[in-house]
Amino acid sequence: MTQRIVVIGGGAAGIGAAGAAKATDPTADVRVYTEFEDVGYSPCGIPYVHGKEIPDFQRLFLATKETYEATGIDIHYGTEVTGFDTGQKSVSVRGEAAASYDKLIVCTGFEYAPTGVPGADLGGLYYVKNIRRAMEWDKVLDGVKTAVVVEASPLGLEMVTALCHRGIETHLIDPDAWALATATDPDIAGPVQDSWLEMGAKLHFNTVLTGFAGDSSVRAVMTSDGEIGCDLAVVCTKKQANTALARAAGLKIGSAGGVIVDEGMATTTPGAWAAGDCIEVPHSVSQIPIQGLSGSHAYAQGKVAGTNAAGGQRLPGALLPRGQEAPGQAAGRAGHAAAHRRADGRCRGHQGARGLPGHGRPDRDHDRRAGHDGERVLASDRRAERADRARGAEPALRPGALTWRSHAGCGPPPSAT
Ligand SMILES: Cc1cc2nc3c(=O)[nH]c(=O)nc-3n(C[C@H](O)[C@H](O)[C@H](O)COP(=O)(O)OP(=O)(O)OC[C@H]3O[C@@H](n4cnc5c(N)ncnc54)[C@H](O)[C@@H]3O)c2cc1C
Repeated sequence: MTQRIVVIGGGAAGIGAAGAAKATDPTADVRVYTEFEDVGYSPCGIPYVHGKEIPDFQRLFLATKETYEATGIDIHYGTEVTGFDTGQKSVSVRGEAAASYDKLIVCTGFEYAPTGVPGADLGGLYYVKNIRRAMEWDKVLDGVKTAVVVEASPLGLEMVTALCHRGIETHLIDPDAWALATATDPDIAGPVQDSWLEMGAKLHFNTVLTGFAGDSSVRAVMTSDGEIGCDLAVVCTKKQANTALARAAGLKIGSAGGVIVDEGMATTTPGAWAAGDCIEVPHSVSQIPIQGLSGSHAYAQGKVAGTNAAGGQRLPGALLPRGQEAPGQAAGRAGHAAAHRRADGRCRGHQGARGLPGHGRPDRDHDRRAGHDGERVLASDRRAERADRARGAEPALRPGALTWRSHAGCGPPPSAT
């Protein structure tokens, strides 16, 4: 008998899940619901279009609607799922008949954490997510002179770079002492911050958002350190798991706020899987539940969920690598930041960054060993790497060419060196 597989969400996780389900069982009736007008595009590219590094939004689409039709995936665009019942195995849909399913895959993604400050309902606050809204905001950017990016999260990092490239006076406010502080150490973030300063960004760390001021549209961002006048505020607060439907349906939610899944992305409720930013997973090194990873994780988890829901067998990879591009810089990690390891008494994992040696800034050329646990930091020339690629050559791994710290074993936490 044909099995009916319903996927809620058409982001990286949902599309990965639908494609894998169909590939595993080509006879399955695979249906995707998404509130958005589109699927199959890279949201990761949106900041680069805003920054004019990618010429247009069309280039962010990876496949056409016809492609999905041709593969037999039935996508309901602009369609809100209002609830699901795991006992009845049915999904309620606004404006459509309820749909029954044999297997359900929940991929409802993330929402930006509410700022909880006065003025949060003003116009001129941009939450970067849906590509159609991004196209509209892109026109608004033409008239923006000054913008404030709220929080130095990965998305905030990309937007600071984009707005600077766009020639907009850009301020960044963040309550922590350095960028990406929840994921990265200060010596890794330092070169990225330097490159922003070179682009003219104004960085306000240790600065707490206290409100947005304006009549109908934002006129200033209020902070613990005073007021910053602006035409636009880009809100890049932490990504929170969007679990409204899952909670209401009784799926188990964990301590990090995401749906609890096992290694195969099955939830604790039979017949229901989940993937992407709406779930939490144990960190592969610390085993502490974490949530709100990257689009790459979401897609890979979606593939696992889709395969297993359709009757196949697939498990995710082990580590959590992530990378981040800044002007002339790339920072990445797989594992724990040193600060976090010290905080929880663990010391395994790897993290690193690439800087810009050879450009008159010797402090950026790291090649050091620190501490007794084998911490090693090297640095890299991102621009030289690009030049290698432009010549058609493989990027060379030069001496001092890669920042990469590693901590093997699990002795006492390193002393502060
Ligand atoms: C500006 C930006 C930059 C990014 N940069 C990077 C990057 O550099 N690298 C990287 O790896 N990742 C990047 N990402 C990806 C991102 O951070 C997420 O990890 C990724 O989008 C998560 O995918 P997801 O499918 O879990 O959720 P989402 O992309 O949030 O998709 C959720 C889906 O669920 C649907 N949905 C939710 N509720 C309902 C409902 N009730 N009814 C119907 N449909 C519903 C939505 O319509 C949507 O299709 C970026 C994202 C953005 C927005």
